[in-house]
Amino acid sequence: MSEDSLLDHALVRLDDAARHLNIDPDVIEKLKFARETTKARLMIRMDDGSRKSFLAWRCRYDDTRGPTKGGIRFHPSSTIDEVETLAFWMTFKCAVMNLPYGGGKGAVQVDPRQLSKAELERLARAYIQAFARTIGPDRDIPAPDVYTNAMIMGWMADEYAQIVGQAEPAVITGKPIALGGSLGRNDATARGGYYLVRHLAGELGLGDGMRVAVQGFGNAGQFIARLLAGDGHKIVAVSDSEGAVFAPNGLDVGALLSAKASGKSVLSTVGSNGHEALAADALIGVDCDLLVPAALENMIHEDNAAEVKARIILELANGPVTSEADAILEKRGVVVLPDILANAGGVTVSYFEWVQNRQGFYWPLEEIHDRLRAIMEREGRAIWGVSKDKDVSMRTAAYVHALSRLAEAIEAHGTQSFFVT
Ligand code: NAD
Repeated sequence: MSEDSLLDHALVRLDDAARHLNIDPDVIEKLKFARETTKARLMIRMDDGSRKSFLAWRCRYDDTRGPTKGGIRFHPSSTIDEVETLAFWMTFKCAVMNLPYGGGKGAVQVDPRQLSKAELERLARAYIQAFARTIGPDRDIPAPDVYTNAMIMGWMADEYAQIVGQAEPAVITGKPIALGGSLGRNDATARGGYYLVRHLAGELGLGDGMRVAVQGFGNAGQFIARLLAGDGHKIVAVSDSEGAVFAPNGLDVGALLSAKASGKSVLSTVGSNGHEALAADALIGVDCDLLVPAALENMIHEDNAAEVKARIILELANGPVTSEADAILEKRGVVVLPDILANAGGVTVSYFEWVQNRQGFYWPLEEIHDRLRAIMEREGRAIWGVSKDKDVSMRTAAYVHALSRLAEAIEAHGTQSFFVT
């Protein structure tokens, strides 16, 4: 593993948390490495008759607390290091929320925008053919992530059903509603972050009419903009992979959503409703109260952390703030609501989907929202308490909170003192 691998950066946070707990060294030894990472080459027939292969992985990082759970990402720059790091985060995220899961993750190294719809379906099915023995409703349960969606989950669930010879909707979450998906899964990640901010607004010093900047305008970014704008907050800047738009008096969120729905960049709205173009990198430094990174990892780093003007960062993306940037932000008094708490609404409603699939009994939307809100508030409040008691950042507090649950489970299998007396 190279010095600056993504997983090394992630493990810094494990060490930080361990310093605040009296846990057995076995726990750290177990959590430092992925339990199992499977690699495959997916070979599919392209529309022009040729064959093409794509690298793919599935990682089951740790399953002490239950079957592993985590999304599948389709991205041209995915690597095994990224997959294992995301699976490590999932291990902690599920423990933060007290879900009966370990952490997993998968990826295909592909730019899905270069594939036709039919090629995308073949790739999704090939992924399941390759990893059918890794996944399973009691073993490892995938879900959507960057550039994968409900339709892809539907193809994957169908392919799994073909292989095992019976419907197994609980093998994968984030499915279309008609195929056993849960109500409320589409906006769950953003909604969880929204409930968290709303619940801790007093403690965080956030009030009415907040100014908000959102980096990344995909699933998570669009829904958080919509929810916060619905409460009368001003979305002053948003970006996607092509650039950023800015309006000091608030962007027209409806216009941005329609642009994305018709396959265009947010940049296509420049010139109307007072929208101005902004360099994509400049979004981090926009004058606002709440900054929401909702794109990819490592977007706030040591070279731009000093530019952040927001007082609060809500990490809807996974790993958007590097550990070096964390230190700079903490010194400047910026509170980071960390990914393993802030974006855990997605996996929580995925858990609800899995429970409903296994029960064969489906809950109304209000019940999903109420249950999600209760969990976000309970764990958010507990982590706020740890952060005050131990005088640590919300990130360290979230890791301490999760690590104490993981440690309890790992230690329940016996520690050195049990075996050597
Ligand atoms: P998505 O593919 O729907 O959206 C990603 C967005 O980021 C797109 O708008 C893309 O154009 C934009 N983007 C890419 N590179 C960018 C850049 N350099 N600058 C600005 N924008 C850029 O993905 P998503 O599902 O919304 O996921 C976003 C993040 O949230 C990821 O880190 C993902 O792991 C995390 N997350 C998502 C979920 C979920 O349920 N969707 C759950 C937990 C965490």
